[in-house]
Amino acid sequence: MSEETTIYPPSKCAWCSGTGEWNVAPGLCASCIVCGGKGNVAVGQPPLLCVQCDGKGRVSTISPCLTCAGTGWESYLTKPKAKKAA
Ligand SMILES: [Zn+2]
Ligand SMILES: [Zn+2]
Repeated sequence: MSEETTIYPPSKCAWCSGTGEWNVAPGLCASCIVCGGKGNVAVGQPPLLCVQCDGKGRVSTISPCLTCAGTGWESYLTKPKAKKAA
C-alpha cells in the first residue's frame, strides 16, 4: 500500500496544557471541553500556532480563542476521521 494519507499526529491541547483536565473553578475540575479529556488534539501539518492567541488557546482566563476553538493550533481538526471498526 503506497497510498499516502494525511496524518494528523496529536498535539498538545492548549486549553488544558495537555492535562486533559479543565479547571472550571477553584476546586472544580472537569474533562477538557476542547480535547475531550485526552490532553491532545489532532492538528494538521505543518503544525502552526494560532496567531490569534499565540498558541495559548485562550483570549482571557475564561474565554477560549474562537479562532482555534481553544486548541492553540491554526489548523486543528474538529471532526475526527471516520474510524473503521476494528
Ligand atoms: Zn484539552
Ligand atoms: Zn487561538
